[in-house]
Amino acid sequence: MIPFTDEQKMLRETMRSFAEKEVAPLAREIDEQERFPSESFQKLAAMGLAGLTAPVEYGGAGAGYTELCIITEELSAVCLSTAASWGTHACLCLDNIRRNATEAQLSKYVPPLCRGEKIGGLAMTEPSSGSDVMSMKLRAEDKGDHYLFNGSKIFISNGPVGDVFVVYAKTAPEKKAHGVSAFIIEKEFPGFSRGKKFEKMGWRGSPTGELIFEDCRVPKENLLGKENKGFLVLMGGLNTERVCLGAMSLGLARGAYEVALKYAKERVQFGKPIAAFQLIQAKLADMAMEIELGRLITYKGALLADQGKHREMNLTAAYAKLYTSEAAMRITTEAVQILGGYGYIKEFPVERMMRDAKLQSIGGGTSEIQRMIIAREILGGVAE
Ligand SMILES: Cc1cc2nc3c(=O)[nH]c(=O)nc-3n(C[C@H](O)[C@H](O)[C@H](O)COP(=O)(O)OP(=O)(O)OC[C@H]3O[C@@H](n4cnc5c(N)ncnc54)[C@H](O)[C@@H]3O)c2cc1C
Repeated sequence: MIPFTDEQKMLRETMRSFAEKEVAPLAREIDEQERFPSESFQKLAAMGLAGLTAPVEYGGAGAGYTELCIITEELSAVCLSTAASWGTHACLCLDNIRRNATEAQLSKYVPPLCRGEKIGGLAMTEPSSGSDVMSMKLRAEDKGDHYLFNGSKIFISNGPVGDVFVVYAKTAPEKKAHGVSAFIIEKEFPGFSRGKKFEKMGWRGSPTGELIFEDCRVPKENLLGKENKGFLVLMGGLNTERVCLGAMSLGLARGAYEVALKYAKERVQFGKPIAAFQLIQAKLADMAMEIELGRLITYKGALLADQGKHREMNLTAAYAKLYTSEAAMRITTEAVQILGGYGYIKEFPVERMMRDAKLQSIGGGTSEIQRMIIAREILGGVAE
């Protein structure tokens, strides 16, 4: 049982009803058409939720990470792609800007992002640099009054539709991890273009693309945080991103479980509802238990983030990301199994949920990387 405040409980009820009425009916369509859920995104913006954690004076809701996770869980229970599109904007882009921007950057970028007039993204991954993120090659050369960008980013959520991106680049390649800086990039900057839009197994309503920088001129004032300190921006943001990904996996798993539970009570075989069979009961029991465990660790991560306890958060964020993503894969797969042949066809949402689940153990740091982080925390120097 999570000790939510009355406001948080109300937010959860509002979001549950919004997700069921407005988001769920579009889930299959955006998956099939592989398109950004503009309708739901604009409705979330109209509800004041596009800039959830941004300061009120810049048009945000001034809320915390627990609220971010509540909304993420509810959206994910009916449509993971909508949660991904909104979360990329509100958490990966806007929250990183909020935490690191100057007053001038806050005034310029935050209000239109909060109003949903502009869509945000975050670009870290490159064709030859995924888990080993600090080996990135995108070069930002200091040219006096501007930086000159050359290189590319790959697999960027909201890449095909975004207007503003937090982008990491090398400002001092010889300094390796200490030569990375963060920037705010506008799609209008000369030399910026979009490359390929990727076709995917899941997360299909969250468009994923390539960003290309060819002699792209980036004004000096678009440096986010200090030069060569992008590592701090990146690491600060990754923990909250992982907790948020935990809330996505939790919501997804809960959504699949609720479909399977209802179906198991209604589907009759051998003269009984299939829920009367112990083999089905065991599946449902495991699903319910894993959802409860996932909820506890995810909201512990959100609480630590709200309390600014970044040291403790490292381990909890890795636990939340790892546990819930793998649980979501198991639970969505079992949901398909409980629905039998009906689980495999598109009239029921569980086949989409199972496809969506796979990305949860890849994006934002793979399961292998989370296990490495946990091992490093519990073993200290022995794991190096
Ligand atoms: C749909 C989608 C959306 C995404 N959105 C974004 C986004 O918005 N922004 C962004 O920057 N990136 C994004 N990504 C990229 C994502 O974060 C990376 O794909 C992920 O970090 C893994 O990197 P990689 O794909 O290069 O795999 P690799 O790093 O090449 O890993 C391949 C395999 O090797 C394993 N491995 C790697 N290193 C080790 C090691 N040291 N020990 C053991 N095993 C290891 C990995 O766990 C994995 O199993 C997205 C990806 C997808 C598919």
